[in-house]
Amino acid sequence: MSSNSKIPVGVLGATGMVGQSFVKFLENHPWFEMVWAGASDRSAGKLYSEATQWRLDGAMPARVAALTVQPCEPSPQAPKLVFSAMDASVATEIERAFADAGHLVVSNSKNHRMESDVPLLVPEINWDHLSLIRIQRERRGWKGGIATNPNCSTVALTMGLAPLAQFGIAKVLATTMQAISGAGYPGVPSMDIMANVIPFIGGEEGKMEIETQKILGRLAGDHIEPLPAVVSAHCNRVPVVDGHLVAVSVSLEKRLTREELLAAYENFTAEPQRLGLPSAPPKPVLYLHEDNRPQPRRDALRDNGMTVTVGRLRECPVLDWKFVCLGHNTIRGAAGAAVLNAELLKAQGFLD
Ligand code: NAP
Repeated sequence: MSSNSKIPVGVLGATGMVGQSFVKFLENHPWFEMVWAGASDRSAGKLYSEATQWRLDGAMPARVAALTVQPCEPSPQAPKLVFSAMDASVATEIERAFADAGHLVVSNSKNHRMESDVPLLVPEINWDHLSLIRIQRERRGWKGGIATNPNCSTVALTMGLAPLAQFGIAKVLATTMQAISGAGYPGVPSMDIMANVIPFIGGEEGKMEIETQKILGRLAGDHIEPLPAVVSAHCNRVPVVDGHLVAVSVSLEKRLTREELLAAYENFTAEPQRLGLPSAPPKPVLYLHEDNRPQPRRDALRDNGMTVTVGRLRECPVLDWKFVCLGHNTIRGAAGAAVLNAELLKAQGFLD
């Protein structure tokens, strides 16, 4: 049990890179307390401090260091709410088993994202998609459920587009400059990435294209009607530690002035802000007016890494408009995104 009135939570894959980001992001969370850590048979039975090579800045939180790592199997001891950061090769069956046994799995893995009854959430954009969990329960007989967050670069892109969605998005061309931390540990060899750019990230372009259409799509009863927009992504790995920058061109169904678009960015707010969710940044999409912003090193960590920054809005001679957006890949694109999803689950009564 949790040591106070906080909601106990667990992390599946707690020893890995994203698992460690969960441990760090959950430390001192006002609603949730991590009381359970799961990993592979290689780690189960060891103390978290023995099983984990801590690779994040700052010390491993002492309370989590003292947890005994458990096998990733549903059990009465595992909390109802579990975050998942498991290797994709094992996530499908384990996440389903937890959902079947009554756990709410808030997953960071790609495995279930595109299933028709699984919400792929960016809470500022499609909080209503969470109701798909009720469809999962009807169809699959699960007592719990699965909610997912998108690929890290897709979060930055969709948040950058969100204030423009009201004008009808018709075409999107997105070129990423993605940080090395997005490749996990040890990631890209230094001999490959130093003073270099790698114009290929396996599977990433396809994920960005279809996930964007689902996130910006419309809830239609038991499924999501994808946004009927053409989306094309170019994905590149660059020698940046944290923060995915995306150069975006977009065509809209409505003719607008730059002032009208800037006003849309300025006025953008959403359900997590209205609900006052603890991890919701005050201004989820922040427009920076300087000519040379946003920049990963200077802007990725704004508001604990949960704000997506946008800048350089100007006319595009090919599509209508172009701009740059930036999101912190391991926070807004991974652990922080999943924790915000869990806060939304609680606010919508799924943890009652
Ligand atoms: P990682 O460092 O390799 O960690 C994988 C985790 O999965 C470890 O805790 C590992 O436990 C556990 N695991 C492996 N085999 C298992 C099994 N058979 N049963 C239970 N647990 C098992 O990987 P990562 O970089 O954190 O990525 C984790 C997931 O998040 C992946 O699905 C990845 O695609 C996704 N993701 C990663 C990033 C990123 O920035 N890295 C961003 C977005 C999404 P042991 O320590 O015991 O082996």
